[in-house]
Amino acid sequence: MSVLPSSVEQVINEFSRLPGVGPKSASRMAYHYLRSPNKDATKLASALEEMDREVKNCKSCFNVTDKEECSICSSQLRKKDKLCVVEEPIDVVAIEKSGVYDGMYFVLGGVISPAEGIGEEELRFKELEKRVKELLEDIKEGSILEIIVATNPSLEGEATSSYITDLFKTYLREKRIKITRLAMGLPTGADLEYADRLTLKRALEGRTDI
Ligand SMILES: [Zn+2]
Repeated sequence: MSVLPSSVEQVINEFSRLPGVGPKSASRMAYHYLRSPNKDATKLASALEEMDREVKNCKSCFNVTDKEECSICSSQLRKKDKLCVVEEPIDVVAIEKSGVYDGMYFVLGGVISPAEGIGEEELRFKELEKRVKELLEDIKEGSILEIIVATNPSLEGEATSSYITDLFKTYLREKRIKITRLAMGLPTGADLEYADRLTLKRALEGRTDI
């Protein structure tokens, strides 16, 4: 028999589903909200609700936004001849922090991982092809579109990178695009989101053709 009211247990369960949060921290978080005098729990609940309601995927790059098209895709200041392909929206934040990238993004939604049952169909490759076509129409004739593959330096990230190269081999042959990969220096198996600013800046500046 549990000594906790079921509503408290429910909150602990929800918190313990968060990444990096174990049952102990989840309890501590729940008690923090129970003790808080300022209706903090209600504020948290309504902030989460608002996020759920307002945030969607950008129609062009699939980053999170509260508009049809995100602020990067709709900006006149961003270069349309560079497209950085990342796994998740959080990677966009990491690369933006490096301060050296002024192109477009595309969020794949993950990487190909047979072990986890994630195949090509689960990711946004069709949408990526469509976006590449759009950008090729947008940029000046004769200019080359650079696709920067910024998947994490893991086995799955590499496999996904090869898949992208394969996907665009016709464009590559026609020299309408070139594909580059972030430079090494990022430790294998590391997550882009945890890489520090300087490492990411160097990885971007030293990117190489594949
Ligand atoms: Zn966008």
